[in-house]
Amino acid sequence: MSFTVPASRVLRVMPAEQQAGLDPYMAQIITNRKSGLSLNHIIGCPLDCGYCVRHFWGNFEQKIPQLLISTPEAVEMLTGHEAFRPHTTPIQLFNKATDPMLPGVKPHTFAVLQELDRRGHTNLVLIITRFHVTPEDMATFEALRNVRVTLLFTYSGIRDDRVEPIAKTTTTVDSIRTAARLRRRTKVILYWRPIVPGWNDDPATMAGVLEVGRDVDAVVFTGYYHKEENAQYLRDLGVPVPYGQDFQRRKVLPGELDARVVQAWRDSGITTPLFRKTSCGVTYAHQVADYNGHLGVPQLCDICPLEQLQRCKAALRAPTEEEFRTALESFGYDPGTPFLVEDGHVLTAALGEQRRYALQHELGYQVWEVAHPHVPAAHGRALQGYALSTEEQEQLDQARARLTAAARYDDD
Ligand code: SF4
Repeated sequence: MSFTVPASRVLRVMPAEQQAGLDPYMAQIITNRKSGLSLNHIIGCPLDCGYCVRHFWGNFEQKIPQLLISTPEAVEMLTGHEAFRPHTTPIQLFNKATDPMLPGVKPHTFAVLQELDRRGHTNLVLIITRFHVTPEDMATFEALRNVRVTLLFTYSGIRDDRVEPIAKTTTTVDSIRTAARLRRRTKVILYWRPIVPGWNDDPATMAGVLEVGRDVDAVVFTGYYHKEENAQYLRDLGVPVPYGQDFQRRKVLPGELDARVVQAWRDSGITTPLFRKTSCGVTYAHQVADYNGHLGVPQLCDICPLEQLQRCKAALRAPTEEEFRTALESFGYDPGTPFLVEDGHVLTAALGEQRRYALQHELGYQVWEVAHPHVPAAHGRALQGYALSTEEQEQLDQARARLTAAARYDDD
């Protein structure tokens, strides 16, 4: 594979000694995330979003994107990864530590897409951005013939430029409009996040965001990662941060706020479907069943269009024990991993998050870790604002007891 980058946009390769000092998670070029197998061989971003996840891994101060390895090497690493399956594994590009449409990053984003496309791979590919997408960019996306691309535009309606400096501009809204107008095979999602009490949950802001989503394929909404590092950064800037000191592993979006978002969408009069989960919005846009099997948590699906609900119903099937073991073996995971096939999900222990996602994407069925209980109404989010019922707690304790006999817990 070869591609050219204008001289003014050539990215520097991070020196080896600097790479050696990176947080191990930042140094990991491929990680399996819930929305897809994620390629991140460029890290660093100048956009300064106050809630950025790079705070968690000590990379927030790196403003200039740098390569960890070359893009041809990265493509080989991705397609040779144990969890990569041509045509089926969902992929994400540069979703961890940079923006894929920054001037220096964009040539690499297109190069990866074009190489996957040239190889005939039809995988879903998620591109999450808040930056400029021009008509020329859309022409490049539209020229792809095999990979199925979704552009997810992070747009929250936040106006406080301490939280999001880009909020001062119309960049993201302009990009959404350009992409929505020029899309044909490329799908466009308004990624409404983070929704945070006091920042952007007033009725006028919600109505404004929904209006921007009028002409896209889907709107996906979610909360924010409430962790000490980003909360401290924002509080130091004088930004009021809700949720106190109750820091969470998952994104926070209390049930009461979820209900207000759904009601705002119903009241808005727009016909764009609304989803709680990224993969639901992406798969709806491409007219396939959800690869994460979220229908196993049917409370998620009360806002889903009927045609999509039917697609997911037709596709959802619990794996047999033998199939689950075969899947474990096919990825090279421990075939002795304890698991229970339950209604809507497989409960596992000690697999770790990344392996669970590989299995989930392969089977289209939820794969859970017993140490991280799911509360049905919480939709897989942080448990703040939700509580396990007595019955749910008993069920969980029983399942945990069965699995504990066979495995140690691994908190991802
Ligand atoms: S039916 Fe449920 S799982 Fe399927 S896309 Fe809709 S919300 Fe997601």
